[in-house]
Formats: sequence, structure tokens, C-alpha cells
Amino acid sequence: TQAHLDAMAAARGLNAFLVETPERALAMARASDARIASGDGRPLEGLPLGIKDLFCTEGVITTAGSNILKGFEPAYESAVSGNLWRDGAVMLGKLNLDEFAMGSSNETSAFGPVVSPWRRPGSDAPLVPGGSSGGSAAAVAARLCLAATATDTGGSIRQPAAFTGTVGIKPTYGRCSRWGTVAFASSLDQAGPIARTVRDAAIMLRSMAGPDARDTTCADLPVPDYEAAIGRGVRGLKIGIPKEYRVAGMPDEIERLWQQGAAWLKAAGAEIVEISLPHTKYALPAYYIVAPAEASSNLARYDGVRYGLRVEGRDIVDMYERSRAAGFGREVKRRIMIGTYVLSAGYYDAYYLRAQKIRTLIKRDFETVYADGIDAVLTPATPSSAFGIGEKGSGDPVEMYLNDIFTVTVNMAGLPGIAVPGGLDAGGLPLGLQLIGRPFDEETLFAASQVIE
Ligand code: GLN
Repeated sequence: TQAHLDAMAAARGLNAFLVETPERALAMARASDARIASGDGRPLEGLPLGIKDLFCTEGVITTAGSNILKGFEPAYESAVSGNLWRDGAVMLGKLNLDEFAMGSSNETSAFGPVVSPWRRPGSDAPLVPGGSSGGSAAAVAARLCLAATATDTGGSIRQPAAFTGTVGIKPTYGRCSRWGTVAFASSLDQAGPIARTVRDAAIMLRSMAGPDARDTTCADLPVPDYEAAIGRGVRGLKIGIPKEYRVAGMPDEIERLWQQGAAWLKAAGAEIVEISLPHTKYALPAYYIVAPAEASSNLARYDGVRYGLRVEGRDIVDMYERSRAAGFGREVKRRIMIGTYVLSAGYYDAYYLRAQKIRTLIKRDFETVYADGIDAVLTPATPSSAFGIGEKGSGDPVEMYLNDIFTVTVNMAGLPGIAVPGGLDAGGLPLGLQLIGRPFDEETLFAASQVIE
């Protein structure tokens, strides 16, 4: 724990941690030592972790990367982080993220961007770590923590993992409790780990997941021993390659990475099958209706009364307006406006309802291939490697949204998806492969991604 605290102090330039909790960390580590000494050790005893600042932590400032939560100190612990402490893990601090997890580069954080520990050879230009779990990915890649919690609404675990050469899994919707995690889009949000290896991710997820009566969408299913699935291999599995993911303008090196991934799985005994997921092209536009719609509703609670920032005004409505104007950043305001618009009377049927119908079609695409015997689907995790800070999306937000083209389908269908390092691009930066599984079959993803890693 002390070694990690020292590494964090030496790497503050990355801006990965928003809050460091050294006293708490050392107290937790001592408690771990005491339990081990008395023969009472738990599964994650003494493992130093970072927590994305979207998870409420009792008595420790939780901001969701937003000024509107400035100074908010939760009186409760999120279910996921509580499960990790129950199992003996140690909290090092809270990790930076895009504001309310809205973004793909960590540049929308009210507390400044996270800098990736990666550089292009021969260049000092700072790169994004991806987002929204940019702090989690950078901290794991830079060895500031052993692993980190993260969340994924449209790709926020898998895309930053791909950009930083780490492993990230978004489990099936309902695998982890959402209780005590700041909500972005409740029907899409899932917690999961970012870790250095597939095995670490499996160990982390086993602790993070599990039934919780406080979240009615949390599945009442036992959590398998994911670590035991590693080493199982892929012999006899059918892996689908969806032709619709071969999008126009995809760089050659992404295509090559994808073929290489399929070749590795084939060499390990899997059967590779071309499949079709015909509604893929509608996933991104539909996601950018459903997610803002839910966000606009979830963010209505930040009114200057209940949490964090308040800017006084002439009357209560003026106070609401001033607090929200000062507290939310540009991207969050854009989402609130889009979300409010698509939910408004007169536009609801044209946008929100249609997006929900598309969501059903996307889900059915996957159900069809799984019914045909496909065990998992292999795709690239992202359409490119990491880009420079300030390079994308400043003029046109859609340029940034296109990062999520391979990841949003998985959230729309509620399926598990893992990103695993697949190699380096021509410029020496990490590229990730994605495996998508059947509902609640994270085990196959761990087994198959371990063949690739
Ligand atoms: N980049 C996507 C968005 O901005 C996904 C974010 C996420 O998964 N939290 O909505």
C-alpha cells in the first residue's frame, strides 16, 4: 500500500486521482495484516485499489467529475465498493472521470483531463486515456493501483482499457448492483473492473458482483468463481465475427488486429464463424437518444438543494437555474437538452420510442446468433488507438461519439463485454479486442480473452 501511495504521489501529473486517502489506506492495510496474522484472511486482503469517483464512498468526497457535486460527502458506501472492502481490499483514493461519465476521453471532467501514461515514440504530446473511466485506466496502466473500479454505459470500461493496454470487463446488466453509484443512464449503466490482466479482472469482478435487494435491477443469481474459468480455453467454442462491424473507413491496422485475434482463437481450438447483426448501424444514434433521455431525468435531482453546489438567486427557481448553470459543464448540458427534447410531448414517439424499438432489434440480433450456437462475438474494441488531448470533438461532438461505435451495442442489449489488449499499432500504442458474451456468461469471456492476452 505504501509503495502505491508513493507511486501516486510521484505521478500527480497524470491527474488520475481526484482524492487520495492515504490515512484510510494505511489503516485498511493494517487491518488486513491483522486478519492475515490471525488466520482470518479474505479473498482480496490488502490489495490496493482505486475507485472511480462515480461510486459513493462513505465520508469521502464524491464528485462524479462535476462541479455540481462539489464538496458532496456521501453518508453511505456504494454496494460495489462495499463488497470490495468486505473482501479485504484497500482504498487508495478516488479516480478522475468524464463529468457524470459522459465522454470518451476524460476531457469533460470539471477537474481537468487525465493524461495517459502512454506516449507515441519520439513525441511528448499528451494522449487521452479514453473515457469515461480515464482515471481508472491511467492509474492501472501507470501501476498506481493494482486494479480499479469503473463503469460502462456505452463503452466507458472497454474503450479506456483498450487505449491503455489494460483489461476491462462490463458484465451483464444486473450482475453488479448500481446502488450507491451516481446514475447516468440507469438502464445501461454497469460497474466492472479495469485491471492489468484477465485473471485480476476475474478476481475483481467476483467480489464486485452479486445480488443486492437495494437495486431492483440487480440479478438474484450466484456469482461463479470467474478465476476458475481461466485456463478453460476455447476448444469447441463457436466465435462469431459480425460483418457489420467492418465499418467504412476502418484503419487497416484495426482490421489486421481483428484477423489476428480470430487466428489466435482458431489456433486454440475455436471455430470462427462469420455472422450478421443487421441492426448494428442504428445502435450509435439510438444510444445517443436513450442515454441522454435517461440522463436528463437522472440529473434533475441536482437542484442546488440536496447536494453539493448552490448558487443563491432571487427566488427558488432562479436559485435552481443559477446552480445548474454554474454546476454542469458543456457536455452535460448538451445531454440534458437532447434528453429533454426527445422525451417531450410531440417528439417522444419520433425519437425516444423509435430508439427503444431499435434497442429491441439490436437485442434480438444477438439472441438470434446465440440461438444458432455462437458462444461469443469477437470485434475490435475501438475504431482507433488513443488520440491526443484536445484533438477530437471540440467542434463536432459526433466525432467523439463515433469512438463508441463498437461498444454501445453491448449496453443496448445488456450483454457482457470484455476488452483485452491485442497488440500495438504502427505508432506503438495499444489496441484492444472486444469479446461479447451471452447474458450472464462472463466465464466464457474470461476463458477466451485469456487466450488472446
Ligand atoms: N462515451 C459514451 C458516452 O459519452 C459512453 C460513456 C460511458 O460508458 N459512461 O455516453
